[in-house]
Amino acid sequence: MITRTPASLHTIPHTSHESRASEAFSSAAEAPSAPNDWRAQLRDVIRSPQALLERLGLEREWLPGARDGHELFAIRVPEAYASRIRANDPDDPLLRQVLPLDAETDVLDGYVTDPLEEAEHTPLPGLIHKYTNRVLLMASGGCAINCRYCFRRHFPYDDHQPSRAQWQDILDYLRADERIHEVILSGGDPLVSPDKRLAWLVESLGEIPHLKRLRIHTRLPVVIPDRVNDELLGWLGATRLQKVLVIHTNHANELDDAVAAAMTRLKSAGVTLLNQGVILRGVNDSVEVQTALAERLFECGVLPYYLHAFDPVQGAAHFAVSDEEACNLMEALLEHLPGFLMPRLVREVPGRRSKTPLSKPPVSKPPVSKPTVSKTHPGVDAATGPSASSPAGDEREPSSLNPTGIIASA
Ligand code: SF4
Repeated sequence: MITRTPASLHTIPHTSHESRASEAFSSAAEAPSAPNDWRAQLRDVIRSPQALLERLGLEREWLPGARDGHELFAIRVPEAYASRIRANDPDDPLLRQVLPLDAETDVLDGYVTDPLEEAEHTPLPGLIHKYTNRVLLMASGGCAINCRYCFRRHFPYDDHQPSRAQWQDILDYLRADERIHEVILSGGDPLVSPDKRLAWLVESLGEIPHLKRLRIHTRLPVVIPDRVNDELLGWLGATRLQKVLVIHTNHANELDDAVAAAMTRLKSAGVTLLNQGVILRGVNDSVEVQTALAERLFECGVLPYYLHAFDPVQGAAHFAVSDEEACNLMEALLEHLPGFLMPRLVREVPGRRSKTPLSKPPVSKPPVSKPTVSKTHPGVDAATGPSASSPAGDEREPSSLNPTGIIASA
């Protein structure tokens, strides 16, 4: 059974700013919760199959499968998210992202527990360093919501909760490598951590001269919009680092008015807002849904960034969309969206030092007619002209290209 350590139980890190760090990482230092406090919403999530079915008016026939899936990866659904799911509709695209099914127990060839082979790139607990100039910090092992397709659903978070000394090691690692310009806070969801802890961490990062950017990958402002509170905006607004916040949304129905208001607040703190999603069967594998999502994101002040091709993580095969289907969808989407609202379809390929864009092979241009040659010259066929026999013709047949259409990015 996969379990995740609640954020409140994470080990307290240690830094040279000992007193500030001690206060920052003390749960006791947190104030009591108000009615709209995100911490109360985080605590009171739906976390049992029965509670989820009852909340959404679903038939009991779903219960055995939900229990089986829940045993492998526990249910977590905040009420703010559940309120956007249509009652009594097992096909609701938001419900599909959170409802465990018995299909999750299927063990299929090619589906693995670590599809991105991240374990190969963790020089220190809590630190993933795959790309030259940016690193990822596992700032939390918990999430507000558990998404059934998550590629980290089997990730050993318990092995990546840095101790006090290990947090110091991470900061030392960043100080020592001047090639690193960007730190990505991820998890789990980094924003489940208390604001005091995040404020301390971001302040410490800001003191490293060669760091330029702070990027935060989070789903919390989407699933609990009240997370975007004054404290968060305070530490985010205070750092000298350029700030990018990448939310995770897969369907326009996730972006209600409360989310839009949260995005407006983030923008006012000077944060660049992007979205990444995953292409998922039965959730967003159509042109209509992807168009509506991109349009709604832009209304909320967010630009589409990545659409991740499906990663073959064990337990999520029922969400699989083939690369060919995904590429066809992207081609069709071009007719419906302006270029700046087109997400990039990418895959993380283990061992590559960047994301890998996926696209269909280029379409051959129609042959260009050549002027008639009236005289025969050496090496030129009078009937066909010079191009027909040229070995340097630039029109490769699509079949000569990589059939997956995968192009390694620079
Ligand atoms: S919020 Fe992100 S990290 Fe957490 S379960 Fe969902 S996809 Fe995975």
